[in-house]
Amino acid sequence: MQVVHTKVELRAALKEAHTTGKTVGLVPTMGYLHAGHASLIRRARRENDVVVVSVFVNPTQFGPNEDLSAYPRDAEKDSALMRAEGVDLAFFPPVEELYPPGFTTYVQVEGPMTATLCGRTRPGHFRGVATIVSKLFHLALPDRAYFGQKDAQQLAVIEQMTRDLDLGIQIVGCPIVREADGLAMSSRNVYLTETQRAQAPGIARALFEAREMIRDGRRDAAAVVEHVKKTIAAIDSAAIDYVSMVDPRTLGDLETLSGEVLIAVAVKLGRTRLIDNIRVEV
Ligand code: AMP
Repeated sequence: MQVVHTKVELRAALKEAHTTGKTVGLVPTMGYLHAGHASLIRRARRENDVVVVSVFVNPTQFGPNEDLSAYPRDAEKDSALMRAEGVDLAFFPPVEELYPPGFTTYVQVEGPMTATLCGRTRPGHFRGVATIVSKLFHLALPDRAYFGQKDAQQLAVIEQMTRDLDLGIQIVGCPIVREADGLAMSSRNVYLTETQRAQAPGIARALFEAREMIRDGRRDAAAVVEHVKKTIAAIDSAAIDYVSMVDPRTLGDLETLSGEVLIAVAVKLGRTRLIDNIRVEV
């Protein structure tokens, strides 16, 4: 595995692949890699000649009172996981490499898609995401890019941006990888206290119950959402940010259920904000 830190090195490392028509798969991450990230890397490994993984804790997607400085980092462990998964090229840029002094151009997906769900409490978050992902796309020029359904809104926003800007990159959404007890894997799970860690799977259980309700024939979105809210509210220390049932592509609210539906939640356990979701085919 080649490890690079600068844009010049990254482009040089990919030049041969691009000129000889090899396919390139990109997996953008913020590091502190776990089995969820590994599943994206594995899929990219299967589908491309060259696999690039970026590790960058992107400051522009964090709000002023969010966890940018506390975000967990472990470049050595990340490199070991990437090597084990057969990654060809690891990109670890320092902040100044992607945001040099005077940087002032941002990419904004407008409209309800970025205003709803996490966009309500994290203004500017998706602007930061769209900006860094478009920069990484321009730098790596991948054929395919891999994103987790864990961040369902991010996936929808990136798909929208890729369509709107004719980027010609195939966006591959990958299923959520969970701990044995159901908790969606996340780098932020390390913030949880022992008590909160024991409570956290209750969030996934509420989503699994919602899926069962729909499979059992319930078609009233409000009733299913209410059940999820009540179940999560019963967890000590849980403060619900949102529970929503939306179209996974547009993120528009659903009243009656048909086609594929996404039930998405954001919950604070103490100071840790967790997101999770489930897709159900109706
Ligand atoms: P992050 O490092 O948290 O920014 O995540 C990098 C990529 O990995 C994003 O596309 C995430 O959606 C994806 N990802 C994170 N956690 C999981 C998970 N538990 N299952 C599947 N994909 C995930």
